[in-house]
Amino acid sequence: MSESNLLENVVEIQRKLSTLIGVSGHENDVSAFIFNELKQHADNVWMDKMGNVLGIKKGTDPDGLRIMIDAHMDEVGLLISYIEKNGFLRFVPLGGIDKRLYPGSDIKIQTKSGKTISGIIGMNPPHITDPKLRDISPDHANLFIDIGAKDEEEVKNLGIIVGNRAVLDGRFEYNPDIGGGFMRGRAFDDRTGCNVALQVSKLINDMEPIPNTILYSFTVCEEVGGRGVPAATDGLNPDIGIALENTIAADVPGVPLNKQITQLEHGPAFSVADRRTLYHEKLLEIFKMRAEELGYSWQYKQPAFGGTNAGLWHTMHKGIPSGCISVPSRYIHSPIAMIKISDILATINTLLAILTKPIEI
Ligand SMILES: [Zn+2]
Repeated sequence: MSESNLLENVVEIQRKLSTLIGVSGHENDVSAFIFNELKQHADNVWMDKMGNVLGIKKGTDPDGLRIMIDAHMDEVGLLISYIEKNGFLRFVPLGGIDKRLYPGSDIKIQTKSGKTISGIIGMNPPHITDPKLRDISPDHANLFIDIGAKDEEEVKNLGIIVGNRAVLDGRFEYNPDIGGGFMRGRAFDDRTGCNVALQVSKLINDMEPIPNTILYSFTVCEEVGGRGVPAATDGLNPDIGIALENTIAADVPGVPLNKQITQLEHGPAFSVADRRTLYHEKLLEIFKMRAEELGYSWQYKQPAFGGTNAGLWHTMHKGIPSGCISVPSRYIHSPIAMIKISDILATINTLLAILTKPIEI
């Protein structure tokens, strides 16, 4: 595939994935899309009982490595917890969301039938708010979603029930002209990782067969504590695991360099350690070497923030050597994140080189 075809494909898949709603536990729309894409590029694709989408592309060497690449399909969001008599909805968060984002947010509620209904997280105007309260971040007990309904019955007739999921909505945009080209949109953590894995699956399928067997894993429920990945790992039985993530780039005004975690336009970010994992050092050396051979810059994800699905691997199946490669992103876990085109393309090409060349660890 030419570089311009790859770019076109990357943007289209990112647009599609970013528009789908898939809060932890309700990933069905995302998994259906990924299933259909992956089955075009793998020998065998299936869904396990948890809802993880798994696939295998068999290698030519029967003794070759089984390499699992994993990206999580779920995103942070809200769970509808109570419907008030007067039609307002109460909610609790699923995954890490900063409460300061809530007031005034544009909400999309996903009903069981797959319909989406818009709402607003209501907030009293400053005119009638105690000045002391304006500087305090809101409390869940005082927050509600307003869908414009007149009462509880109308809410229920719309198909909204306790347990429905909702997201803070954000518009997708691709802009090739500013800052070397960027995409912005909702749920980039971790639809970006899903996009990277899908692109690599297509590229590997289009090339001469390779010795290693590639195991594709698109997991549920990462944002609520990595609950999908143990089942996926049992189903795939890998020798090596590589988590694909969308990680924090805090390269914005007011953040000192030693706290930026990663920076946009510095290439793929390789993890050394985070709150869950001490990553395999030889695997890390291979990641760096492959990026450099391609002439890409790369960066460390500064230890030791966050955690990934790799956190479970290195303690499972007698210990699976684990790595993590991330596309840097500003504003993750907010309604709109931003990534640079150069970073996602470099991540895809580096991962492809890692998987298709020998790995000796
Ligand atoms: Zn993530």
